[in-house]
Amino acid sequence: MRTSEKYVKGLRKMRRNIRIGGETVDRDDERMIGAIRTLSATFDYAAMPENEELMTATSHLSGEKINRFCHIHQSTDDLHKKQDMTRFLCQQLGGCVQRCMGIDALNAVSVVSYEADKMNNNQTEYYQNYLKFAERFQKEDLVGCCAQTDVKGDRSKRPHQQADPDLYLRIVERKSDGVVVRGAKAHNSEAAQADEILVTPTRFLTPEEGDWAVAFALPGDWEGITQIVRPAAARSRKYLKIPFEGGMADSFTIFDNVLVPWDRVFLCGEHLLGGPLALLFALFHRHSYTGCKPALTELILGMVALMAEYQGIAQASHIRDKLAEIIMVIELTYAAGYTGSDKGSTKMMTPMGLQEVGPGTHIPDPIYCNVGRCIAGENAYHEMMILADVAGGLPATLPYEEDFFDETTRPYLEKYIMRNPEISAENQHRLFRAFSDMLCSSYGGAAAVGMLHGGGSPIMEKIAITGQYDIEARKKLVKKLAGIKD
Ligand SMILES: Cc1cc2nc3c(=O)[nH]c(=O)nc-3n(C[C@H](O)[C@H](O)[C@H](O)COP(=O)(O)OP(=O)(O)OC[C@H]3O[C@@H](n4cnc5c(N)ncnc54)[C@H](O)[C@@H]3O)c2cc1C
Repeated sequence: MRTSEKYVKGLRKMRRNIRIGGETVDRDDERMIGAIRTLSATFDYAAMPENEELMTATSHLSGEKINRFCHIHQSTDDLHKKQDMTRFLCQQLGGCVQRCMGIDALNAVSVVSYEADKMNNNQTEYYQNYLKFAERFQKEDLVGCCAQTDVKGDRSKRPHQQADPDLYLRIVERKSDGVVVRGAKAHNSEAAQADEILVTPTRFLTPEEGDWAVAFALPGDWEGITQIVRPAAARSRKYLKIPFEGGMADSFTIFDNVLVPWDRVFLCGEHLLGGPLALLFALFHRHSYTGCKPALTELILGMVALMAEYQGIAQASHIRDKLAEIIMVIELTYAAGYTGSDKGSTKMMTPMGLQEVGPGTHIPDPIYCNVGRCIAGENAYHEMMILADVAGGLPATLPYEEDFFDETTRPYLEKYIMRNPEISAENQHRLFRAFSDMLCSSYGGAAAVGMLHGGGSPIMEKIAITGQYDIEARKKLVKKLAGIKD
């Protein structure tokens, strides 16, 4: 397994194709250090002996010990461990762990590349390509990200109906040495910190949309790829240091006539499999959310409880209501993901019903994962509202840290920030600053939108839930109980 030092060293060697604010910058630009620290933690925690069981796995391809973020789930136990690892790391880091897009795409592609070869009577070699890629990915302990979400243009139009066909990434030429693609992917989290970008379609495709049915993996600095990055982090602490300062960075990833060598192609033209791949990545990713979201909401719970104590309102009945509400979201989301893991199998819902798919990859149950992700997503801003409610307005108007340490203003701020006399001024200040980071920083704002839309907007989960739940069986049940015969 790699060390975080080697991971960061690798990033520094990559081609400079990262743009921020009108400039070409290094991958370890200080605005992205928080994201690098976060990803580094996935190596550091995996190397700790006490985390071995949770954070490492035995590769079914090589038999070697690997970081669980590179593993292809072989059992329901693997699914449980992925959910628990995600929750554990997000608790430790106080935010999104940012390495799940890679493992989720890796698992989704394992199934669809295999099915594509089967559909093509083994005239294609997508699964062999995938295996070669996955073996290297595991051996070198690579960081992957997933570029699924197309920029999508006019939302009422399909890919082939757009005024500009590049608004969904597509194949523009098939050559002897590879396939040329053009388009852009939005919201590509941590692509600037990833070794490899896994690209998948974003939606179901029609027969005229074979050119949009393309999946592949390329290094993030490949010729023709430009990443326009929006980093987000809370203001770096000057005096009140905290144990971990994270951050995130999302790329607008441009593919300008990029040649993808054939041995890196996992799908090329099979429109029937574009949708299942989109659905599977989303499913694995929503399963990840049932691990991360409980952890993030646990932090919100702790913040609300602590703030109530500091404000002197811990006994108020509305606080108890708020805490209970938050706990219900945490544990319902986790329970849904847990059941999703437990009911996981090598089957997937297809138009022909539940079918055995893929090479043995374990897929979590879609209903439970979508239910969990939807509950979490729809509550994201409600939780922000509870935070703002319990804290009052100070997170938004808190003076700069420097003013708390300035000779002239320090006595005033320390005197007037006081609430509960049992709590020191510094600790009250620290807690309000944590609220300010969560509610008012560029990181907090971006993370909240991510909690709502990341992994798919709630409407997407509702479509997945109602599309796969056996509603007809429930109608029949009611007819039987009501004595309706038709
Ligand atoms: C912080 C963050 C990180 C993310 N990370 C990743 C990542 O790493 N990789 C990745 O691939 N994606 C990522 N995403 C993308 C995420 O999956 C999308 O944001 C989500 O699927 C919504 O897509 P969109 O942003 O294009 O919004 P839109 O699809 O434009 O949605 C906006 C609104 O329009 C509605 N709408 C859209 N189409 C229709 C229609 N045809 N009819 C009616 N209503 C419609 C939606 O319901 C929604 O209310 C990330 C998003 C965020 C915010």
